[in-house]
Amino acid sequence: MRVKSLSSGSSGNCYLVQAGGHSLLIDCGLSATALQKFLALEGVNVAELSGIFLTHDHHDHLSGAGQVSRRWGIPIFANKKTLDEAAVRWAKIEKLSQQRANTTMPPESRTYNTRLFPTGKATTIGSIEINSFPVSHDAAETVCYTFKADGVQAVILTDLGCSTSPIYEPLLQSRLIILEANHEEEKLWAGKYPYTLKKRVTGDKGHLSNRQSGEILRYCLENTGLAHTVWLAHLSSENNSPQEATATITKLLEEAGIERFPLNIALRDKPSLVYETEQYYYQASMF
Ligand SMILES: [Zn+2]
Ligand SMILES: [Zn+2]
Repeated sequence: MRVKSLSSGSSGNCYLVQAGGHSLLIDCGLSATALQKFLALEGVNVAELSGIFLTHDHHDHLSGAGQVSRRWGIPIFANKKTLDEAAVRWAKIEKLSQQRANTTMPPESRTYNTRLFPTGKATTIGSIEINSFPVSHDAAETVCYTFKADGVQAVILTDLGCSTSPIYEPLLQSRLIILEANHEEEKLWAGKYPYTLKKRVTGDKGHLSNRQSGEILRYCLENTGLAHTVWLAHLSSENNSPQEATATITKLLEEAGIERFPLNIALRDKPSLVYETEQYYYQASMF
């Protein structure tokens, strides 16, 4: 299995997961143009994607998915509430882009290839097994996903305001953990966001702070014997920085006796981190 962060943060989230000749995306908050460009760097043609799995209906996770599905027929997997809300959002996005371009699309090209994937269910795409589980966030019905291939499981745990029991098993079982570290609490409260937005971000249905992220990670590392690769993700440009996220989380881990744990940062707006299982590496190098 190979996982690549194509973009992470409030201006667009998108991860590429590959195994056994299949490529799929978790979220697509990028424009179709940016996605095409980023996938080309990975040697992937958009038309070859096996599917897009949406975590929830916020703009930074689905903005490009509708266009990609409509243009290339790529299936979009999500629960019913997310799909319903996504259809409304894509219609608005489409209307806006038509107004800008002063054109209308022919009706037959308007269909989205959507597939119902109820929360808590599992599915497989080729050799990749995908599971969804609920998290606490202020969208219609937010989920996070685990994906498993080559005997290795990974989890993307972003867009949640607090830890709830369904996150722990996926967390403990995953070799690759992509974990939200959205904001540094003091920085956010001292910053220029309106009060209502500060309340939203720090609330139980908002986003994980560096401290919360560190506490979740500490629990995970104390309770599993697995070697984990950890990517910190969905960092706020306004209320966080790679240095602050790393410092706060490292301090929390060190207080628990976990020294020099490597933390990687998934960058905003551009491709950054990559994770490859040995098996994937050998498969790829055979060709
Ligand atoms: Zn988000
Ligand atoms: Zn969100």
